[in-house]
Amino acid sequence: MMKRMGKKYTVLAIIAVLFVSAIAGINLSDHALGKEKPRKPIIIQGPMPIEAENFAKRLDHVKVEKSGSFVFYKGKLDNYPVIVAKTGKGMENTAAATAIAIEKYKPAAIINQGTSGGHDPSLNVFDVVLGKQTVNLGSLKTPHLEENEGIKPTSWIPMDLMASEGSAGEDPDAEKARYFEGDKELLAAANAVKDKYTKGKVIEGTIGSADVWNNEVDRIKWFHENFGTSVEEMEGASAAQISKSYDVPFLGIRVLSNNKTNGGAYDPTTAAANQDYVYEVVKEYIAKKKSK
Ligand code: SAH
Repeated sequence: MMKRMGKKYTVLAIIAVLFVSAIAGINLSDHALGKEKPRKPIIIQGPMPIEAENFAKRLDHVKVEKSGSFVFYKGKLDNYPVIVAKTGKGMENTAAATAIAIEKYKPAAIINQGTSGGHDPSLNVFDVVLGKQTVNLGSLKTPHLEENEGIKPTSWIPMDLMASEGSAGEDPDAEKARYFEGDKELLAAANAVKDKYTKGKVIEGTIGSADVWNNEVDRIKWFHENFGTSVEEMEGASAAQISKSYDVPFLGIRVLSNNKTNGGAYDPTTAAANQDYVYEVVKEYIAKKKSK
């Protein structure tokens, strides 16, 4: 009997020793290989192929995943997980692509980047605007006019759909524009590498978004004066709003591809230039994250 018990304890002891050394072995080899703990990815959004694919090509070990019409290029940059998302154009596509990406990939941060049209005459094609703020230019309420009193767009009032859960049409507190703040750490990384961008200047400003391409210079001027917009595009505010719902740090980075206010003609090569700059921003952000 005693002999059998002894055998049992010996076997248990051997199993215990093997178990402990296996765990120690795993830790040791992880340490020795310099393996890093899993990191939350950074998501870089671009609406059109010319606004996403250049960046995606620069990632290592890319795996392509699709969800609906949205394409996610999952890869590595400086051994850190980065996902380029081709969202498609406009507010709806971008909102959906942002929510899906947050649910699927639990990102540390989101950058929405691409081309834009200038609202500020001092900005030229190839200049870059860092979205210190982003605002929805399509969220408007018209004052009351009777039949045959016409349409008066300059009297339209901004409307904040996030002001309350009640009716925005009836709520006087909703008669203001909602500005989404650009994340401070992302802004700091973007400012830290702005000298690496040589094709134009990099400034902090306000990005306005709507599913509208404005070509009326007086209307553009009206937005510039009433909403303080530096540029317009069709995605930033939608991605900013969804990022805010989930408390994910967000920044819009937009290059001017055209500027109606000073005759700047549309140049699609600005999209690639912006991605080169955003690549430097992401590298800087990653370096800061790794040093923490
Ligand atoms: N010239 C292109 C336009 C693409 S649609 C074409 O005809 O195919 C608009 C896209 O460009 C959107 O993703 C939007 O974010 C961006 N954009 C660039 N300049 C813009 C502007 N002036 N107004 C609105 N969107 C603009």
